[in-house]
Amino acid sequence: MLNIVLFGPPGAGKGTQSEKLIQKYGLTHLSTGDLFRKHLGEGTELGKLARTYMDQGHLVPDEVVIGMVEDKIANSKDSKGFIFDGFPRTTAQAEALGAMLSKNGMRISGMIALEVPHDVLRERIKERGKTSNRVDDQDEEKINTRIKVYLDETLPVAKYYENQGKFKNVNGVGEIEEIFNEISSVIDSY
Ligand code: ADP
Repeated sequence: MLNIVLFGPPGAGKGTQSEKLIQKYGLTHLSTGDLFRKHLGEGTELGKLARTYMDQGHLVPDEVVIGMVEDKIANSKDSKGFIFDGFPRTTAQAEALGAMLSKNGMRISGMIALEVPHDVLRERIKERGKTSNRVDDQDEEKINTRIKVYLDETLPVAKYYENQGKFKNVNGVGEIEEIFNEISSVIDSY
């Protein structure tokens, strides 16, 4: 079973690569951002709560995210494995994920980090904001907040997996297909 954490700052291309990876490897895509946006669209209580954080570019509290992921894993019993996209975003989330998986006899195969310079990220996010309807993509200050939150709270998660010998970097700038091939060769080495 393959369980991959696709890692990288906002705008790194995790969503784009996840779509291709789930096709190739038959995995379940678990994007916490997408799950929150689904709740938001459906107007659930969870969605309303998450919105107050997301629209500002802040992280949704760990216990809320962890509960939602736990539900999704429990409801995907027949899955061949997962691509975790946008999760774990804090060390506490990484620890909770490890515990959740081992309870079900699973483990993380590895983390793959997409590396993209910050000025490229800003441009990509602003470009996406023209069509994405995402409030957090349309405002310079919110984009800066998200990059700062990434550096302060999320980057330590890379260290967490590096310490376990499960970390690999991939250049996230270039042709989508080229990046995809690089990620695939890392996965094929697991
Ligand atoms: P991006 O990576 O482009 O910022 P995402 O769709 O992954 O976009 O996340 C959008 C927002 O959803 C985040 O800024 C945050 O508010 C919330 N969010 C998503 N995943 C998590 C998570 N694992 N922990 C806390 N908040 C999250």
